Amino acid sequence: MTGPLSQKLFATAKGLIPGGVNSPVRAFRNVGGEPFFVRRAKGCRIEDVDGKKYIDYIGSWGPNILGHAPTVVTNTIHEVAKDGVSFGIPNPFEVEMARVITEWVPSVEKVRMCSSGTEATMSAIRLARGFTKRDYIVKFDGCYHGHSDSLLVAAGSGALTHGEPDSAGVPAAFAEKTIVLPYNDSEALEKIFAAQGEQIAAIIVESYPANAGLVFPKPGYLDLLSSITKKYGALLIFDEVMTGFRLGKAGVQGIENLTPDLSCFGKVIGGGLPVGAFGGRADVMDMLAPIGPVYQAGTLSGNPLAMAAGLAQLKELGKISGFPRLEELGAHFEKGLRSVMDAKGVPYRLNRTGSMFCLFFTDREIVNVNDVMKQDLEMFKKFFWGCLDKGVYTAPSPYETGFLSLAHTEADLDETLEVFEQVLATI
Ligand SMILES: *Cc1c(COP(=O)(O)O)cnc(C)c1O
Repeated sequence: MTGPLSQKLFATAKGLIPGGVNSPVRAFRNVGGEPFFVRRAKGCRIEDVDGKKYIDYIGSWGPNILGHAPTVVTNTIHEVAKDGVSFGIPNPFEVEMARVITEWVPSVEKVRMCSSGTEATMSAIRLARGFTKRDYIVKFDGCYHGHSDSLLVAAGSGALTHGEPDSAGVPAAFAEKTIVLPYNDSEALEKIFAAQGEQIAAIIVESYPANAGLVFPKPGYLDLLSSITKKYGALLIFDEVMTGFRLGKAGVQGIENLTPDLSCFGKVIGGGLPVGAFGGRADVMDMLAPIGPVYQAGTLSGNPLAMAAGLAQLKELGKISGFPRLEELGAHFEKGLRSVMDAKGVPYRLNRTGSMFCLFFTDREIVNVNDVMKQDLEMFKKFFWGCLDKGVYTAPSPYETGFLSLAHTEADLDETLEVFEQVLATI
């Protein structure tokens, strides 16, 4: 149960905003309840409007890798805002942001900034289609790439290879151009490319799928994506909106030693402000307006405040100890969580890399979204509400990944593990 002020705000919100929220997962419908409203947040802790405090494992769904309201970012925002918050004319921060991204991510030779992850993937898809002069794209079941029409597509039923709209309002004619395949299934991929590889503009994939649990590629799977796109003249688009600048300077592509043609970024890159980016091969990127025929634009793209906030966050993170420290915290948390779960004796799977983790109440091997959906959802709900009650905020949906930040300490993690232990004892 949330407090009386949260309840009152949500009741008002429901009359004014569809479902009371500006993004669906915030409504807590996956756990059957109502959201709390936040008053303030600092470090790894959030305080709601009723004054209740929580240790946070969401970090605004990914952006807040330094924790909430890090001084390096808030000071930068204060300073930069004094000189103007938007110009619609080039500013030096955009150039510096492009320099940092291209330096950190070797596959990105040129980059274009936008205002969300959705815009980044939508634009990368258009660019891939414009560059290859082909219409079809391949995506994977359970991978989320934002909410543009071409990407809100679900697997077709039965023998159909083309996708079906995954939302009302997406024309079937659009969805038909998106082929949806099961993730981690090399055979399905080879089959579709053998049949119509010459018509496929691009594969788009979440570098590590993290919007339907956290799923890892089987050995060799990412290499296959890379080689098969090369073979057929299609492009490989890595959606690193969640993993980019979280799992290392060069994201998953750095870890897996891969060179996608295009990459998409968001979340961490904006320091909590609305930022997205897509970039990659210079010959592909130069197809964009104003020098090429593929149109893409944005009134607030490269916004000085957002660029400066993002740069402040990236530079802090890039300091010698940032990513190793996140891995150290992740490993500590994983070890503790495993011993709590082992002691409880219920079936579970735990996927973790660096500061990203996902606990599944199942004994199935997690290969793709089908396995994620088969977990014990009742157990998940009880666990979620039990933790929230005791001041630990984990994802209000079994399909979301948890995040640690540099503001978490071993003491915070141990406090959390104790809560987990207490909650598990009651369910
Ligand atoms: C969050 C996310 C997006 C969409 O980004 P928005 O900023 O919410 O539009 C796209 N792809 C992935 C992998 C994401 O995690």
